[in-house]
Amino acid sequence: MTSLARQIEQRDPFRNPLNLMLLTKCKLTLIYISSKFILLSEWLSLYIINRKQNSPIGDQVIQMKDIRRQMKGKEGNRVRVTKEFVFDMGHALIGYDGPCKDIHGHTYHLSVTIIGIPLEQPGAAKDGMVVDFGLIKEVVHDKIISQFDHALVLNQSLPDEFKNSLGAVTGKLVYLPVQPSCENLLLHFKNLVEPVFKEKGWELFSMKLYETPTSFAEWCVSDN
Ligand SMILES: [Zn+2]
Repeated sequence: MTSLARQIEQRDPFRNPLNLMLLTKCKLTLIYISSKFILLSEWLSLYIINRKQNSPIGDQVIQMKDIRRQMKGKEGNRVRVTKEFVFDMGHALIGYDGPCKDIHGHTYHLSVTIIGIPLEQPGAAKDGMVVDFGLIKEVVHDKIISQFDHALVLNQSLPDEFKNSLGAVTGKLVYLPVQPSCENLLLHFKNLVEPVFKEKGWELFSMKLYETPTSFAEWCVSDN
């Protein structure tokens, strides 16, 4: 090593590749020891919890696994259940540059998907279910179908004289604060049912609204 190189190394010892390698090794060892310490402390806390419950030693391992699974929020396999609905509805996309600007109708297909862990409660009425399909139907009928089936849905920003003339030809008019596109209708429907699902402890996973057999909009919790 030249005297200049030795001077540089004395000022900054980690310029030497051997020293740098040793430092990296030390860091990796420290990370490894820390991760083992975290695992050990978790094991000890679980052990203490089980000791407090005075469980037989044979059951402790099983209970510890259960507690660990609960701590991670994985109590079982999550399953998605879907209920589908069909209804007819009219709408018009005022200002749109296509045929949907005029009043017309569609047969809409709506699917609602709830996700959860099937109930494990032998003897219970809902044993084996994430949620009873019949109960999803009740909510969707109450909040969406009863209001929108055979209705004419329009943007509320339309001129009053136009709204008044429509009132004379149809009794089931719904005005939305947005353009009643497939996407906006889907979001509106989602906002109508999601709070009810939450109240009931159901987790909404996704909703799909088909305007035609080949055109649909989809909302999914993982996208938001
Ligand atoms: Zn349309």
